[in-house]
Amino acid sequence: EESISVQDLAHQLGKKATEVIKKLMVLGYMATINQELDIETVMIIAEEFGATVEVKTSKEDELFAEIEESPENLQNRPPVVTIMGHVDHGKTSLLDKIREANVTATEAGGITQHIGAYQVESNGQKITFLDTPGHEAFTAMRARGAEVTDIAILVVAADDGVMPQTVEAIHHAKAAEVPIIIAINKMDKPDSNADRIKQELTEYNLISEEWGGDTIMVPVSALTGDGIGTLLEMILLVSEVQELKANPDRNARGIVIEAELDKGRGPVATLLVQSGTMKIGDFLVVGTTQGRIRAMLDYKGRNIKTAGPSAPVEILGLSDVPSAGDDFIVADNEKLAKQVAERRQNERHHKEITSRNKISLDDIFARI
Ligand code: GDP
Ligand code: MG
Repeated sequence: EESISVQDLAHQLGKKATEVIKKLMVLGYMATINQELDIETVMIIAEEFGATVEVKTSKEDELFAEIEESPENLQNRPPVVTIMGHVDHGKTSLLDKIREANVTATEAGGITQHIGAYQVESNGQKITFLDTPGHEAFTAMRARGAEVTDIAILVVAADDGVMPQTVEAIHHAKAAEVPIIIAINKMDKPDSNADRIKQELTEYNLISEEWGGDTIMVPVSALTGDGIGTLLEMILLVSEVQELKANPDRNARGIVIEAELDKGRGPVATLLVQSGTMKIGDFLVVGTTQGRIRAMLDYKGRNIKTAGPSAPVEILGLSDVPSAGDDFIVADNEKLAKQVAERRQNERHHKEITSRNKISLDDIFARI
């Protein structure tokens, strides 16, 4: 357990023990000079004295350390694609049509369940689609510093044109430095005009390839399915240039796509594996929660035993419901997973306390 006595803390801070005790009293905490303080209290006191606490590296930190993979361990992985665009321009229809068109004959009629992401194959290569249309999910994840998307498909209805949410999506994708492919949708409509869309997009520095630019623009119809094959080919073309790779032979890491509490099954989370391979029975930390993978399902609801890079999976066995955008990492054992989750909970708690204290101080000053 990480703790330090009042005396030692005072010494570290270059203060008298009585000063630290006074500060503790102000915060409503009575302590003696030999009292051991937990890490949370230490962080609060240190902050009060304008110092920062550096917790020594441990097994836990090693778990989260960035890994420099040597090139020979890296293998190609499927691109992860998000569909964005203005409301009613056809995001949901396009996602449905892509999924539908790529369900093989034997699976046709089978139940495809919604887990927030799915995979399709084009020319024997997989593509992962995040099935959470709109940029709300994208924005929420980015706000948490989670970079999940490799390619953004921007849907623009050919009978409507560039609209406010189209522009917003362009800004999001550019800020995240994610390449944009334009899907000019609703080409089946008589009043559709692809050239007008291309013209409007030039204002945002998205110049079509035919016009000498470098933005791929594909006319499609989510209604008839026209152009969807080409769209998939273009996604694979762009992803080839990106050289997307990951090491499948290590403990899995990734991001939570969505999660909920299921009445019968308990916490259920859809995870996107970003590197490594996840296995049934793995212990993992997910955000501030943890657990052991009891069951794992793919996007078709089939039970699977392992999941590699870029695979979306639904897992059961967590002790609590994580949030979209939380990271996850597989730990070598249960003890470590629990330790890390507990520490992360404490850290979050500490953040909450300090922000609350700040608010109440402001409050007091406002009243004075
Ligand atoms: P979202 O809000 O972007 O998810 O848009 P939806 O997928 O819900 O589509 C909005 C409306 O446009 C629905 O009535 C769809 O049936 C229709 N729609 C979508 N794509 C096409 C298309 O390619 N052609 C035509 N004619 N209608 C479309
Ligand atoms: Mg929709």
